[in-house]
Amino acid sequence: MSAAPRPFATSAPPFGLLLDVDGPIANTVTRTIAVPGIATDLAALGNAGVPVVFNTGRSANFLWREVVPPLRDAGLDPRARVHAVGEKGGTWFSFIEPDDAVHVDPSVQLPPVVAALVRPLLEGRSGAHMFLDETKLAMVSLEQSTAVSNDAYLRVQPDFEAELLAALTHEGIGWIHEVYDRRFHPDEHGATPVRVEPTIISTDIQHERSGKALGAERALALLGEDGAMPRRWYTVGDTPSDYAMADWLHEHGHDVVHVDVRPVPRRDEPPYPVDLVDDLEPDVATARFLAARVAEV
Ligand SMILES: [Mg+2]
Repeated sequence: MSAAPRPFATSAPPFGLLLDVDGPIANTVTRTIAVPGIATDLAALGNAGVPVVFNTGRSANFLWREVVPPLRDAGLDPRARVHAVGEKGGTWFSFIEPDDAVHVDPSVQLPPVVAALVRPLLEGRSGAHMFLDETKLAMVSLEQSTAVSNDAYLRVQPDFEAELLAALTHEGIGWIHEVYDRRFHPDEHGATPVRVEPTIISTDIQHERSGKALGAERALALLGEDGAMPRRWYTVGDTPSDYAMADWLHEHGHDVVHVDVRPVPRRDEPPYPVDLVDDLEPDVATARFLAARVAEV
């Protein structure tokens, strides 16, 4: 860590941002930050002392490659309170650290047997639509191939997940399948250590404890070390699982507004304000939200 003074650490920032990456920040088609205003406004907010934490299933490698450079190019002060939590809380780094730094929580690392079970499933139709993300250190993710359309991918994804769940069951590994109606299959001890979570462009296989709530907890631990806590929070996401960030903050006594940039019908009304944006692409909606936050500070 740098010994340089942290000019952003003294007074309580007006708000903090906890941001999902795929969808709100990185376009799900290009897998890059495609709306230029996102990088410039995030840099402006970071430089104004607003804590920004990315909370994603993505690897640290992806974040160093696709998210850090555009923010630096947009003039982000290296001492700004910007952190990245990857792999649903399993890995993390701070933007002030040396390039490619990454910390891993071994308590949520999946055993190698899970990736070994997945590889044979990628022979044939599934392998033509998705690939194993080899940069993951804690979880196992199958990402949509950019050579196929998202519609084609989403037609294959449920069959792949059915094969995956069968393989886990055959291996005696208990699992939870996290969709709108949660299914689970415990192991012989009644445990479900593996959680399978579909997103728009991936199937994430992760430790039961991993998720956007663990990511939020990690985010606040990182901010606890580099300055005052913000008075309130905005969380931004494009999948139902992203509400877990706001759930965690609310449960721990923080004021939070969740911004859902790809809303789908929900069963329950959360106990905090939700801003639903369904008239724009998720990254365009996030750019508009960030511009409003820049205007606020
Ligand atoms: Mg997302």
